[in-house]
Amino acid sequence: MAVLALLGVLWINERPVSVIETPESEVKVLPAEVIEKIGQAQYDKSFQVPILLYHYVEYVKDTNDTIRQSLNITPDIFEEQVKTLSEAGYTFLTMRELGLIIDDKQALPEKPVVLTFDDGHWDIYTDVWPILKKHQAKITVFMITDFINGSDFLSTEQIREIVGSKEIEIGAHTVHHVSLAYESAQTLKFQVEQSKKTLEKDFGLEVVSFAYPNGALDLAAMQAVEDAGYWTAVSTVLGTNVNKGNRFALYRLRPGRLIGENLLERLREVN
Ligand SMILES: [Zn+2]
Repeated sequence: MAVLALLGVLWINERPVSVIETPESEVKVLPAEVIEKIGQAQYDKSFQVPILLYHYVEYVKDTNDTIRQSLNITPDIFEEQVKTLSEAGYTFLTMRELGLIIDDKQALPEKPVVLTFDDGHWDIYTDVWPILKKHQAKITVFMITDFINGSDFLSTEQIREIVGSKEIEIGAHTVHHVSLAYESAQTLKFQVEQSKKTLEKDFGLEVVSFAYPNGALDLAAMQAVEDAGYWTAVSTVLGTNVNKGNRFALYRLRPGRLIGENLLERLREVN
């Protein structure tokens, strides 16, 4: 229990109720060894894909829950963001599709965008999914497998309904929300591989995308992700540049509460 608390997880009874992952706690710069490896990688092309990072999309009732408030975007604003992107001609891609594009198996649309949700909270089912259906948008959700059915997270039943929908892809975010930088080979293998296997077995999926908890990674973590059979992995480092060399340390950006031209400007200014 104490160890898990140190990892940034709040536990009540047997299931975690919250993941403490604030913008402040997230990794903002890739480790030097990763930057060096990415810099040395051989690739024939590089392109810009904004991968947006979300946690909660809901009307937060508890005004004392400052973490939730700070990470939250209301459904109204999320819908405005989806509309903004759609009307500006953006094509919503899942992480699986981005993997296919990196491997030259799918064409890159003129204005690609990927919406990603970390942790797999229940509001994806109640608040986000209806908006996606209404606007033909897509997201990728990174699940923490041991937290499924926790009070703050999607339930097995909800995920069963989501699986197979064209709006939501399921990716993995470890078994216990463990930061993967400087971890033992054994921990890396378990957290990266077991979360994929559990999702695949329980929901009849092929899981190909991964997100590092707190954005924490190193070369060994990237290798564990590649060895487990994922196609891509996302960090929390700001950027939009995508190529074969950084597919296991992809950049993301936070849309915050920006809508309209302010949101479009934010997507264009980062690279
Ligand atoms: Zn997380």
